[in-house]
Amino acid sequence: MAQYDYDLFTIGAGSGGVRASRYAGRLGARVAVAEERYLGGTCVNVGCIPKKLFSYAAHYGEDIGDAAGYGWRIEQPTFDWPTLVANKDREIERLNGVYAKLLAGAGVTLLRGRATVVDAHTVEVEGRRVSARHILVATGGWPVVPPIPGSELAISSNEAFHLTALPRRVLVVGGGYIAVEFASIFNGLGVKTTLVYRGERLLKEFDADLGGFLAGQMQHKGMTIRLRSTIERIDRGGQGGALRATLDDASVLEADCVMYATGRAPNTRGLGLENAGVKMAANGAVLVDSQFQSSVPSIYAVGDVIDRMQLTPVALAEAMVVAENLFGSGGRSLDYEGIPTAIFSNPNVGTVGLSEARARERFGDIDVYRTNFGPLRHQLTGSGEQVLMKLVVDKKSDVVLGVHMVGPDAGELVQGFAVALKCGATKRQFDATIGIHPTIAEEFVTLREAVIQGQT
Ligand code: NDP
Repeated sequence: MAQYDYDLFTIGAGSGGVRASRYAGRLGARVAVAEERYLGGTCVNVGCIPKKLFSYAAHYGEDIGDAAGYGWRIEQPTFDWPTLVANKDREIERLNGVYAKLLAGAGVTLLRGRATVVDAHTVEVEGRRVSARHILVATGGWPVVPPIPGSELAISSNEAFHLTALPRRVLVVGGGYIAVEFASIFNGLGVKTTLVYRGERLLKEFDADLGGFLAGQMQHKGMTIRLRSTIERIDRGGQGGALRATLDDASVLEADCVMYATGRAPNTRGLGLENAGVKMAANGAVLVDSQFQSSVPSIYAVGDVIDRMQLTPVALAEAMVVAENLFGSGGRSLDYEGIPTAIFSNPNVGTVGLSEARARERFGDIDVYRTNFGPLRHQLTGSGEQVLMKLVVDKKSDVVLGVHMVGPDAGELVQGFAVALKCGATKRQFDATIGIHPTIAEEFVTLREAVIQGQT
């Protein structure tokens, strides 16, 4: 391997890039990773981690109100946005340091600067060329804001993490993960929040019951949701320099901030992949096979840049496959079935397996179990928050195909059920499992009456 400067050169020190580099380093490979921005990528800096911290912050407001039902008197709570941002930034700085240490500990060389691909085995970083037996592209994605008149006045989630002041009124555009999460965050922090979505139902990619139920809960918590609506232009010119968003029905919404959460595109522009002959999809995603190998055998790609599932744990798993196959015992691939996910809206959404519609397409005859109820905690708070829980079961084999939930800590709860689904658990086994009382989770093992029954 010595004819190359490195055995592996990774472009991008985000979740996937760092994991592959570290693991390859541990396996004895000579590894370098280049990063032009921040260590830890989207997840650590402008994604999962700061978002979850903001989500906790937003929940406190509601919790303080709820506490009154339990006898707590908390007079006039106030919220200080700069304190939250500063504390969040401190935690991110700590994590950036942890990432640097992890790389150094695995003997990985970190090169600060933008890397571009020159050819199948050469990368250029800040004017310096280095050669590598393998190149791994792990450059992630970047928010996409549709090009409407005035779109430069809008922000994406990237900027939302660094707003100098909390807006009084916000419009959030989109109906996916980031839109519902940020609408919940802003609303929980006391911002008058309107969600504008072009479609019929939030979270369109998920089980059809989830988006509708979530929308109801979000509205109950004070958000305004405008479905089947598109912003056609944004102007400055509202009162006190506020923004004016003109919708397709000609109505005008005034806000201090318009945030687009309309998807993220793979980060491949200007990376030089075309020079090396790497094939990409129309949206710039690197096309890879089941081993994450691109059309150029020495170039691999993992994570958001391949645009399969834009989730940190998926990028980590993909990275492990690449490192293990290149420098370990090999023969690894990734099973994309049954990947659980959570959306940290308020309330949370947790889901694993097939939606009712997908299950019906694939298995035909299915049973559906569903319940919604007010959890015990809220019997004293009077908040009126409801929980939705749903199981989708293959009628013939009795195997549980999907577990879906809207409710507190749905992600925490669904993670365990994801293991059960990986093991092929049947509804009978769910029923034979004793519940933990009183919890919300116990409902998943006590659902007895199917609301929709298959034929066989
Ligand atoms: P999503 O793909 O989840 O949602 C994008 C939304 O924007 C959809 O509702 C889509 O509508 C809408 N949209 C797309 N284009 C336009 C347009 N031109 N005008 C109006 N609306 C439009 O993307 P996000 O940006 O929310 O998040 C990106 C990815 O990041 C997610 O898919 C997820 O993989 C990951 N993520 C994961 C999180 C987690 O694990 N908790 C949290 C945040 C992000 P339509 O449905 O009609 O196409």
